Amino acid sequence: MKHDVLIVGGGVSGTALLYVLSKYSDIRSIGIIEKYEDFGLVNSASTMNSQTLHFGDIETNYTLEKAKKVKKSADMVKRYLETEKARNSTEKLFIKVSKMVLAVGKEQVDTLRERYISFGPLFPNLRMIEKEEIGRIEPRIMTGRDPDQELLALVTGDGYTVDFGRLSHSFVENARRIRPDLSVHLSTKVIKIKKTGDSYTLITDKGEFEASAVVVATGSHSLKIAKSLGYGKNFSILSMSGSFYRGPKVLNGKVYTMQIAKLPFAAIHGDPEVHDENITRFGPTAKPIFFLERYNYSTFWEYWKTFGFSLKPILSILNITFDKVIFNYLIKNVIYDIPAIGKRSFLKEVRKIVPDIKLNEIKFAKRVGGTRPQIINNATRKLEMGEAKILGEKIIFNITPSPGASTCIGNAFEDTLKVMDFLDNKYSFDRYRFEKDLILPADTVPVTAKRTVKIKI
Ligand SMILES: Cc1cc2nc3c(=O)[nH]c(=O)nc-3n(C[C@H](O)[C@H](O)[C@H](O)COP(=O)(O)OP(=O)(O)OC[C@H]3O[C@@H](n4cnc5c(N)ncnc54)[C@H](O)[C@@H]3O)c2cc1C
Repeated sequence: MKHDVLIVGGGVSGTALLYVLSKYSDIRSIGIIEKYEDFGLVNSASTMNSQTLHFGDIETNYTLEKAKKVKKSADMVKRYLETEKARNSTEKLFIKVSKMVLAVGKEQVDTLRERYISFGPLFPNLRMIEKEEIGRIEPRIMTGRDPDQELLALVTGDGYTVDFGRLSHSFVENARRIRPDLSVHLSTKVIKIKKTGDSYTLITDKGEFEASAVVVATGSHSLKIAKSLGYGKNFSILSMSGSFYRGPKVLNGKVYTMQIAKLPFAAIHGDPEVHDENITRFGPTAKPIFFLERYNYSTFWEYWKTFGFSLKPILSILNITFDKVIFNYLIKNVIYDIPAIGKRSFLKEVRKIVPDIKLNEIKFAKRVGGTRPQIINNATRKLEMGEAKILGEKIIFNITPSPGASTCIGNAFEDTLKVMDFLDNKYSFDRYRFEKDLILPADTVPVTAKRTVKIKI
């Protein structure tokens, strides 16, 4: 059977698109293909990422422009989560905790104070707090700290800690409830995509599928597939795995640290586990690996194929790592993953958040943490800051490092508009209903009222 649209990849990106197309469009035949036996098992699994719904309020490496864009998408996920909670309160998709970014020392404090001037108006629930209130919300930040050390924090009650794997399931369940005829194929691996006349043939290990339009949402694999069709030739991937250390509950909510602006990864932070608030997770580290998928050693060659066998990506890597800041950061992060010495070295970072934490309180979390496909642009020889979308002829490829899970619905919205176009506008997309359901009427709440919101601990 020929599909109107086929989605490849059943992580949070692919399933969000399945949901948006099923609920808000009248496209007749929609399908999804996922190579594993279930949805959300790779980077979207709760064990693989930091479980944070990123809005751009406490991510100090985001520009204001980036924060505005991420916030718009994250608000959609927030709206979806809150609606699902009201509809089905027994399924725990998320927990809500306090969330702060902590500046330590004069230089960071000055930077954060300055940042609040431009970011504050975009995030009315974000408040600037001093030592006393920091200590009330997160006592362990103050215990054992040098009383002369300068501290400042931005805090909000909107600390959404999300199980993005479960969210993928929720998208599929809701899509299937609305459209029981969806064509869903688990345990089916796409081996090759071929353009055949006006449509695409997807060759899988379970047979062939045909579609008029295709959206590839397979994380770092998306670039490999794009390249096989002649797209994205100027890009390579730096696969940045992230590991975590676990400890007992030493924090009530999420505590982020200040990030260096030129790095596209979140700085080390402490977070409660979504399904067990008695565990605090610290991380993620950022170590380059030569696999498209972490813990999947068969993706070694696929990684190099995607990287490209030419001088260009090598020159890009050299250019990127010759930057002193990036080089030092990478070396430090490689050390964090080395047994024995890694833990001691990582502890220094954790102590910036919890000064009196003991070495035996934290433990390396085995097989926790996926890998972020950071895009290398071989034309500029630079690292791109976030997600990438490659547009082809009636085909889209999504490559999704962090905050790809937070932007899943916003990304699905963009793809939906493109897909409608790919299908010659034969079908319609109910944009009004989409916006009514998923775009928060935030501007209708008076700013002064929102600024007085207190953090609940
Ligand atoms: C350490 C770390 C921390 C992070 N923290 C956050 C965070 O706090 N907040 C946030 O928003 N984001 C975070 N991210 C990023 C986030 O996890 C990803 O952006 C997001 O999960 C991407 O979802 P996806 O659906 O695009 O990819 P994935 O979840 O990787 O899904 C891709 C799917 O495609 C399937 N697939 C691959 N190849 C094929 C094929 N050939 N045929 C069929 N199926 C295929 C895979 O099996 C997989 O299910 C983090 C990532 C890491 C690694």
